[in-house]
Amino acid sequence: PDKFLSDIEIAQQATMQVINNIAEKIGIPDQYVENYGKYKAKIDFRYLQNELKDNEDAKLILVSAINPTPAGEGKTTTTIGLGDSLSSLGQKTIIALREPSLGPVFGVKGGAAGGGYAQVVPMEDINLHFTGDFHAIGAANNLLAAMIDNHIHQGNELDIDTRRIVWRRAVDMNDRQLRRIVDGLGGKTEGVVREDGFDITVASEVMAIFCLSNDILELKENLSKIVVAYSRSGEAVTAGQLKAEGAMAALLKDALKPNLVQTLEGTAAFIHGGPFANIAHGCNSVIATKMASKIADYVVTEAGFGADLGAEKFIDIKCRKTGLKPSAVVIVATVKALKYNGGVAKADLGAENLAALEKGLPNLLKHVENITQVFKLPAVVAINKFPTDTDEELNLIKEKCKELGVNVALSEVWGKGSKGGQELANEVIRLTEKPGELEFAYDLNLSVKEKIKSIATKLYGAYDVEFAPKANKEIANIEKLGFSNMPICMAKNQYSLTDDPKVLGRPTNFKITIRDITISAGAGFLVALTGDIMKMPGLPKVPAAETIDVDVDGKIKGLF
Ligand code: ADP
Ligand code: MG
Repeated sequence: PDKFLSDIEIAQQATMQVINNIAEKIGIPDQYVENYGKYKAKIDFRYLQNELKDNEDAKLILVSAINPTPAGEGKTTTTIGLGDSLSSLGQKTIIALREPSLGPVFGVKGGAAGGGYAQVVPMEDINLHFTGDFHAIGAANNLLAAMIDNHIHQGNELDIDTRRIVWRRAVDMNDRQLRRIVDGLGGKTEGVVREDGFDITVASEVMAIFCLSNDILELKENLSKIVVAYSRSGEAVTAGQLKAEGAMAALLKDALKPNLVQTLEGTAAFIHGGPFANIAHGCNSVIATKMASKIADYVVTEAGFGADLGAEKFIDIKCRKTGLKPSAVVIVATVKALKYNGGVAKADLGAENLAALEKGLPNLLKHVENITQVFKLPAVVAINKFPTDTDEELNLIKEKCKELGVNVALSEVWGKGSKGGQELANEVIRLTEKPGELEFAYDLNLSVKEKIKSIATKLYGAYDVEFAPKANKEIANIEKLGFSNMPICMAKNQYSLTDDPKVLGRPTNFKITIRDITISAGAGFLVALTGDIMKMPGLPKVPAAETIDVDVDGKIKGLF
């Protein structure tokens, strides 16, 4: 409908405060604020190390969702709106989000700075380069790649098998042309010919390491553990053996400082790091989350995809590693997404359909159960209201949740900002009053297979897991190399609780098949792949890039 302003129009009409005001409001001393223009700043990590360390932690609110659908769920929008609503209730609140990648911005998804009246600004900058962190991460990734090939060119002392180099190059762009390449062509002085390829920067292990390290020293240590290749005798070759970690960390030292911006309503937001949510853990940096947690009373953060993937990894990987602990989890659901899970085609989602809505509800309930029964955390369903939703549809979700004793609140932050999130914010405050007892889905000292089985049976509802020959071979390799005590990062399609994206709702009686397992020794997890996961996406037939433009004054149009 024409009467709605687009996200970028709303964002550009906003009057922003200079970022130093926002920093001052939350009490960050000026000496730690590094301005990137008027409306963005990096906050020196020494603030966390030197001054905040002993502060009490905030109540951490994790925003997750049902299985995503093509209709879009609005996790980021809800995260930002909830942050504003908590602020409006007088709570000292900071939002902690991921940085958008240029790939989806120019592809189909668009930006990732929220929507409607729940956005972070300046949205154009946040969506386009921002403070350059991703370029720095790409540079660190590619420095390592250059050092590997140079090592081989200069005599290959480590006896790297050029057919078993697992480190790839990276660029922050959807560019399928670079997925598989041959490089080093041209003869003796031009390097060594080999098969190679690029991943999108957010899929680089450097990104995951960046987001899971508590400080520069840990960053270096983790970078040095990256397995880059195997020698001809099958030994792992690491970044540390190539002496790459110091220079890589040097490239990352400014990137490692959390970026501070503001919402449309002036709530502080740290936007920092952005790992893929499939082959990596899909949430913002530990440094930003911790800094926010030591400053504020409430921190609202988002994990990618549905609760089966994002929330699970947030808890089993990020919380386990860092001691962070959510006080409550918000599960975002929409009428459209539930109807989609109930079998309605994408084109028909606008029309009221109570029967399909009810049919889709079990998907939501499974995610609620996962949070409350597996992780033992309090949960509330946030119904993110879209303009097309009817009252009957909204009421049906509420009634069904209430019947089953599931906490539920309507969220209208997209249309109304903080005013639309009061019910949700009050419910969140209520839920965080009693301390939870967080449990993990599995124990680290279980075998690799048992850990994967725990996730698949408890969280997805599978009855068993099958391991393809390749996966079995890799598990043997993992055991040989001594990596079997690491947590599991599941790389499953996000659309279904099963490993088949077409199976919606709450399926039962299915098996999960693990096709392959890769080692992210630096990030500290094993990636279990249920299918082919694309680490370098392509652009669609009509990329969003075709409508993005900039005028003579430097004003950007067409971003969404
Ligand atoms: P997610 O974080 O789950 O991927 P986002 O919050 O980024 O989702 O939202 C995706 C898109 O959907 C954005 O363009 C946003 O403006 C839009 N959107 C979100 N919530 C609503 C809503 N309630 N009504 C209309 N559009 C919405
Ligand atoms: Mg999001």
